[in-house]
Amino acid sequence: MSEKLLTDTALAVVKAKENIEKAAKAAGRDPKTVRLMAVTKTVSPEIVNEVVDAGCDLFGENRVQEFLSKYESYDKRAEIHFIGKLQANKVKYIVDKVTMIESVDSIRLAKEIDRRCAEISKVMDVLLEVNIANEESKSGFSSEEVVSAAEEISKFNHLNLRGLMTIGRFGAEFEETKGYFEKMSALLVDIKSKKIDNKDINVLSMGMSSDYELAVESGATIVRIGRGLFGERK
Ligand SMILES: *Cc1c(COP(=O)(O)O)cnc(C)c1O
Repeated sequence: MSEKLLTDTALAVVKAKENIEKAAKAAGRDPKTVRLMAVTKTVSPEIVNEVVDAGCDLFGENRVQEFLSKYESYDKRAEIHFIGKLQANKVKYIVDKVTMIESVDSIRLAKEIDRRCAEISKVMDVLLEVNIANEESKSGFSSEEVVSAAEEISKFNHLNLRGLMTIGRFGAEFEETKGYFEKMSALLVDIKSKKIDNKDINVLSMGMSSDYELAVESGATIVRIGRGLFGERK
């Protein structure tokens, strides 16, 4: 790093990485197996880019329109995952720009990603989004549906199923959230134990600003942090 003073954002990245490392070690995990994602919604690309020099090279995008308006200005060293609700008719705008779609919440969406990736000869890494708290208002597969959905999705030639993602439930207490994270971890083990024709199912994306350390203790390999890096959203 240069001699420039660290920005608030850069400092927050350093701090978050320290916290991740501590939580991983406390759980007997190798900190290198946990990746920090900067969730960029509402944040200007100039500020978003500050995280890269500070050691965070993964951006998470929620909204297609906003993403497209910022994409050209992003630091090209960063990798980008899509993490938001994705409509099938918007898939074509993002498949060439992201390395993973974490929010696959239906077979229909998976089919469209597969079709659009076939057109550009790409195999897309995907995660299945799990509605772990069974909330009416949330999309995603229920925990009962996950294994059969994984089996189905692993048949698509242009999708590479890598694991699971969840948002959890807003406002949940510590113990409730811990239960969800542990359930997610168990679901990943379930999927791995099935004879799905895929060797590298090992990604668990869970934990946000308020609960990422807990997520790391429960096995998260990607934690998605927005406010904890950039401050409260306007
Ligand atoms: C906004 C968002 C986050 C980050 O939430 P913070 O509370 O700002 O850390 C993580 N994941 C998804 C899917 C989001 O939409």
